[in-house]
Amino acid sequence: MPGRLAGLLALSCFWAMQAAASDVAIGVFAYQGERAATSDWTPLVRYLNKALPEHHFRLENYDAQSLRAAITEQRIDLVLTNPGHYITMEAEFGLSRIATLASPGMPAARALGSVVITRAERSDLNELADLAGKRVAAVAPEAFGGYLLAAREMLRRGVDPESDLKEIRFVGLPMARVIEAVQRGEVDAGIVRACLPEQMARQGQLRLNEFRVLSARQDSEIPCTLSTPLYPNWPIAVTRQTNPELAKNVAHALLSMIEANDGLNWTVPADYQPVHDLYRELRIGPYAYLREITPEGLARRFWPWLLGILVVLVAWIVHTVRVEHLVSRRTAQLRDSLNAREQAESRMRESQEQMEHLSRLSVLGELSGNLAHELNQPLTTIGTYARTVLRRQASGRLTPEAISEACTEIANEAERAGGIVQRIRHFARKRAAVRDPVDLPGLAEEARHLITGMLAHPPEVRIDNRLSARCGVLADGPQIQQVLLNLIKNAIDAGRALPAERQSIQVIVEAVDNWVQVHVIDHATGLDSGQLAHLFEPFFTTKPDGLGLGLPICKTIIEAHGGRLWAEPNSDGPGMRFSFSLPCHELSA
Ligand code: ADP
Repeated sequence: MPGRLAGLLALSCFWAMQAAASDVAIGVFAYQGERAATSDWTPLVRYLNKALPEHHFRLENYDAQSLRAAITEQRIDLVLTNPGHYITMEAEFGLSRIATLASPGMPAARALGSVVITRAERSDLNELADLAGKRVAAVAPEAFGGYLLAAREMLRRGVDPESDLKEIRFVGLPMARVIEAVQRGEVDAGIVRACLPEQMARQGQLRLNEFRVLSARQDSEIPCTLSTPLYPNWPIAVTRQTNPELAKNVAHALLSMIEANDGLNWTVPADYQPVHDLYRELRIGPYAYLREITPEGLARRFWPWLLGILVVLVAWIVHTVRVEHLVSRRTAQLRDSLNAREQAESRMRESQEQMEHLSRLSVLGELSGNLAHELNQPLTTIGTYARTVLRRQASGRLTPEAISEACTEIANEAERAGGIVQRIRHFARKRAAVRDPVDLPGLAEEARHLITGMLAHPPEVRIDNRLSARCGVLADGPQIQQVLLNLIKNAIDAGRALPAERQSIQVIVEAVDNWVQVHVIDHATGLDSGQLAHLFEPFFTTKPDGLGLGLPICKTIIEAHGGRLWAEPNSDGPGMRFSFSLPCHELSA
């Protein structure tokens, strides 16, 4: 009875312990299916349960997708997976390895490799580089030994398995399917994990001499032929949520594990950098983003933006070219019209100069009768003095005083005649327009001198200078003089048949605001309103020998100087008042 009691007690203690033991889930990447995974890993679970009885370890099989979900939902504490899958989840979930699986006689860091096989008679296939344009079978796109290791080697030898093969056929597990596809000639070559052909040969499932290995290499660490370097073995890892005490205990238990029946045991975590390098070169897993920053990747991702930018750029270029074209066309048009305008202006200038010249000649023509009379006077005086000298000489009364007096008078009269001729020549000269400071009262004086010098009985011409010293005029002196001459001559003409008191003429020069105004005032016949309306029209004349060009030319000259010419009847009696204005320029002191 006491023995039974003791037995019951022990049993209840065991159950109590079992109940208290915390549950630890080991998530396994069951890439070969649940059965294979369970059979592969059950010895490990059994070992851990024995080594750490305070925990209850159990196995949970997952495929890649559901293992990720289990980690996210914190359903597992430990993760057992292949190196590629591990580094992917290390980056994604912060998994951290606590031990790496070690095969007998093989360091954990150099345990996994791939072999690429073809049929023995395919003498055209020797190197991985020969696979360009060929059909290749592999397990799956994510299979570590069954695809990725060989894919990296192919890439290194210039054959991109994604684009340079005729076909990459993923046949799935078991891996023997790849070998069968090669055997049947469905593909030119196949990728399997290293040692599988040797293992199948040992089990009598194939004959090694029926196959050849591409880019074959041997490694002292592994008794099989390889096509790739060796990579670290599977790790066991903890998640961020795993209890650190549990992680430490499991690591301790694994590292102190004696080799199991199948020869497997655990060692310190290996360096998984080569796996990172592989994923980076293939631009997959945590390095998939590298695909996006290649020119093609960027183009694929940002094509709507690039297209938009391209459209904007093309539109901008088209716009710029169009604007350039328009600008150059408009510039040419502008240049042409400027040239045409310059030519027209120069023609106009020429014809204006011509007209002015003609008008001057016409004034001279009209005055020529009087001019002859004017010249006649000094010539007569000269003749008289010369004859007087001769007469005195003949009578012997020629004294040196008489000679001196006669010669002085003759010289004076010759000088007077020369002056008249000089003024006429100067007036009649043809010349181009200029802008110089002019002395308007001085010009009026000269005009008076010129005109009265040519007339036998000149009327009175009074010049009234009311100009302030600060107001000056920039003008073409001879042109302004011609205007004055025309206006004075017209005024004289208008009063020619009238009594002397109505013939007098007044010239006033004054400053009004910023203008200089010149008024030529007569007290003659004046003009009626009908005549006034046509006064400045070319060829309007009331004189039998008139041309009717004087006033239009005067108007053109004054307007070309920025001024104005106008006429109005005298406000305080008969006669006319002709006025012109010119802009006033401040003269510096
Ligand atoms: P022309 O002297 O050859 O006739 P103008 O153009 O100088 O040409 O003058 C045009 C006309 O204007 C003159 O014929 C004359 O009838 C009239 N006219 C000009 N000035 C006066 C004036 N001061 N008084 C009256 N009529 C004038």
